[in-house]
Amino acid sequence: LSERLGGVFDRLTKQGALSDEDVKTALREVRVALLEADVSLPVAREFVKAVQDKATGQSVTKSVTPGQQVVKIVHDELVHVLTGAEDPGSLKIDNPPAPILMVGLQGGGKTTTTGKLAKRLKDREGKKVLMASLDVYRPAAMEQLAILGTQIGVDTLPIVAGQKPVDIAKRAKQQAMMGGYDVYMLDTAGRLQIDEVLMQEVEDVRDAVNPRETLLVVDGLTGQVAVEVAEEFDAKIGISGVVLTRMDGDGRGGAALSMRAVTGKPIRFVGLGEKMDALETFEPERVAGRILGMGDIVALVEKAQDTLEAEQAERMMKRFQKGQFNMNDLKMQLEQMIKMGGMEGVMGMMPGMGKMAKQVQESGFDDKVLKRQIALIQSMTKKERANPQVLQASRKKRIAKGAGLEVSELNKLLKMQRQMGDMMKKMGKMGKGGMLKQAMK
Ligand code: GDP
Ligand code: MG
Repeated sequence: LSERLGGVFDRLTKQGALSDEDVKTALREVRVALLEADVSLPVAREFVKAVQDKATGQSVTKSVTPGQQVVKIVHDELVHVLTGAEDPGSLKIDNPPAPILMVGLQGGGKTTTTGKLAKRLKDREGKKVLMASLDVYRPAAMEQLAILGTQIGVDTLPIVAGQKPVDIAKRAKQQAMMGGYDVYMLDTAGRLQIDEVLMQEVEDVRDAVNPRETLLVVDGLTGQVAVEVAEEFDAKIGISGVVLTRMDGDGRGGAALSMRAVTGKPIRFVGLGEKMDALETFEPERVAGRILGMGDIVALVEKAQDTLEAEQAERMMKRFQKGQFNMNDLKMQLEQMIKMGGMEGVMGMMPGMGKMAKQVQESGFDDKVLKRQIALIQSMTKKERANPQVLQASRKKRIAKGAGLEVSELNKLLKMQRQMGDMMKKMGKMGKGGMLKQAMK
């Protein structure tokens, strides 16, 4: 996929300007590329449509080509679709002992992932983990887990011949409670294909222990099959997350994309090899970058956007130094403040403004106030915004009414604009605005 997209965007990035038709052509190729990477047709179609909607009418950042801009939009949409959980790496394992059920087809990587996850929980979170193999079918499956346990220093449930999976699960629960374990992990048996017996067995185990997490382990290289498996397991068992294994291979991100779009389940981890530490938290940014194979361009566009904002700030600075600060400026500042985490955050960043920040805080400033102020400015005419001095009683009444607010609130806003204007002017005189310029970086 990455090669394919790389080719598409190479061609785009060499062109100066990008027409609507160019975007459409590019996205047609993106769609084909996604399909080749085993993304299902409806998913690919929907993805392309979302990108198209977002790309249309977006201004192109100066100093990058329109093609690069499209890459960024495709990238951002990929991240958006791939993001499923705020913190995919944190499992629900409070209330010990917490059962984690590992499900999936045979050969998907369940046993390996059980070991990897147990090691992670032990090493990173200091958890006491018990692992139990419920695979009574495959020869030496239980021994495989026991060997892993020894290797990583995690206990495994003693093997008792002839027990049914559900009974082993109950025994694991018992042992976990008595032994003071934080977590017990149940590594179930898989089949080559989904069948009724397998599902019934996993259902029984689920009902016996009521798992806090049910993780589906699937081979990331199987693409569309992985997605179908996920849908079936979710319908029958109910899964809380997905682990994609073999992402160390030729790394088609296609499975991840379909998985997210079709099942809506969060991808929690990716397997990146056979070793016990080859497990990582799923990072949408990283996988998106991998699908695109164009991390550099994405970074470039982000940087260009930063530069553009800095240029805007610079221009504003020059006006402030001349004592120009009207309602348009104030509006921009207010909007910036909301973006940067409110008044307090902005003031806190400016040197010498700690005191003012405190006052602002005490006066009960928050985003709601900022938004009301913006509403007031929006109900002013162009002329009034540029020249707030013209505001007389009747105009004030009209503006306040337009914003659905009191005139007293408008008066406060006007006072603020005057004060900020004065302040900007003073700061502008001090060292050519160096101080404020610093603060705005
Ligand atoms: P299970 O049948 O679902 O329990 O699958 P296993 O855990 O036994 O794994 C089957 C094979 O896949 C083993 O040879 C593992 O070493 C290998 N495997 C598992 N996860 C990964 C991975 O993330 N990357 C690679 N390259 N191999 C893996
Ligand atoms: Mg196994």
